[in-house]
Amino acid sequence: MVLDVFGSGLRGVLDKIRGAGVVDKNTVKAVVKELQKTLIAADVKIDQVFKISKNIEEKALSEKLPSGINRREHLVKVLYGEIADLMGGEEAHMDVDPARENVIMMVGVQGGGKTTTAAKLAKYFQKRGFKPGLICADKFRPGAYDQLVQLGSEINVPVYGEPGKKDAVKIAKNGLEELRSKKSNLIIVDSEGRHSLDKDLMDEIEKLGKTINPQYTLLVLDSTIGQQAETQARAFKEKCNVNGVILTKLDGSAKGGGAVSACAVAEAPVFFVGVGEKLDNLERFDPKAFVGRLMGFGDVKGLLDKFQEHVELDQAEDSAKRMMAGKFTLVDVYEQLEQMKKMGPLNKIAEMLPFTAKIPKDMMNVQEEKLAKFKPIINSMTQDELENPKLSRAQVERISKGSGTKPEDVRALIQQYNQMRAMFKKVKKDRRFARMFKGGMGEMPGM
Ligand code: GDP
Ligand code: MG
Repeated sequence: MVLDVFGSGLRGVLDKIRGAGVVDKNTVKAVVKELQKTLIAADVKIDQVFKISKNIEEKALSEKLPSGINRREHLVKVLYGEIADLMGGEEAHMDVDPARENVIMMVGVQGGGKTTTAAKLAKYFQKRGFKPGLICADKFRPGAYDQLVQLGSEINVPVYGEPGKKDAVKIAKNGLEELRSKKSNLIIVDSEGRHSLDKDLMDEIEKLGKTINPQYTLLVLDSTIGQQAETQARAFKEKCNVNGVILTKLDGSAKGGGAVSACAVAEAPVFFVGVGEKLDNLERFDPKAFVGRLMGFGDVKGLLDKFQEHVELDQAEDSAKRMMAGKFTLVDVYEQLEQMKKMGPLNKIAEMLPFTAKIPKDMMNVQEEKLAKFKPIINSMTQDELENPKLSRAQVERISKGSGTKPEDVRALIQQYNQMRAMFKKVKKDRRFARMFKGGMGEMPGM
């Protein structure tokens, strides 16, 4: 299993949160302490451990909770978000396209998994409609060419090499020509690796890179080196324009978490991870999904969905409150319409008010296309216009031009606004309503 140790450590932290009687300052401190142990065991750099600890403590104790979310859930959410950030945050995408030629160069020290990963990548992209080709530009390691030929034949991918020749740059040039003539549109160049980072290796790779000018120079790093990945990533980035990383051997590494976070520190995005020796054992790397999996998908996914829902409800409620007070703008109208669209006609306001029947039918049935037009219209209006949309003909023209819509679309939005305004005015006069809302919406039943 991938990252057994790190994963079970994180799940242990979650158990601690679940088992705590109350979630207060002491609980947060105890949880952070447990997390620190797990991160240090995974070889995460100590200053990163401190930073994440501080962030979690701050957020867990001071952030405002969305309604319907308790401290415990909030702490899990904070933990998840911070660890996902530590692992790189947003997923990085490789921009390759079967409609053009794509060249990828693999670099890294010997034994890291370059050759295996080159073949894994070829297989990965072959499945996605590319026609890969492989070049062996490693003249340092004996048997490098045979190894690549063997792997290439497993997946029916042509392999170019010149066994015995010593000029890697020339080999790569010839290989590109040959594979182009075979109509390969994703050419992967396997370069050589020495036993360690040394100047000769770097010079060699720099030369090779300048000649073949690859779109991607991918650094292949053995994740068992943990936080040392940072030094390697920085060195290769500086010397040969590395613009992505593949971390290998994550299947057997206790220090995988440290390696992943080290790449994030070095600002080297991890595109893929190797999780076994077979050519299928390559996975896209998405920090959020990765952390979600380590923490237990069921637990995290459900919680995040709940969070999202409550944050949206809070926003809807805020704008509903402004509407009740008669102080609403077109932006509020848009938000409400969007909410209605999402939740169906029984949206937040309609649900809790005794006057559902009074909401005009066509207002409830906002169509998707109409809504899609409203957004650019709103974006083309000034703050003044948003707050007080009594528009002259010239203004309507300007807004419709600016938003690429028709003047009648602009007028339709204004009409929605006026309808809503009129409705709320009427509702405010309703005595039953006024009584219910006396203490503010917070006292509404079921809120
Ligand atoms: P290179 O010297 O960088 O080209 O490394 P190789 O591709 O020859 O790989 C070195 C060793 O690591 C081989 O025995 C591979 O099977 C193994 N290896 C590569 N990637 C992985 C991985 O993701 N998981 C495991 N368990 N082994 C791997
Ligand atoms: Mg090799």
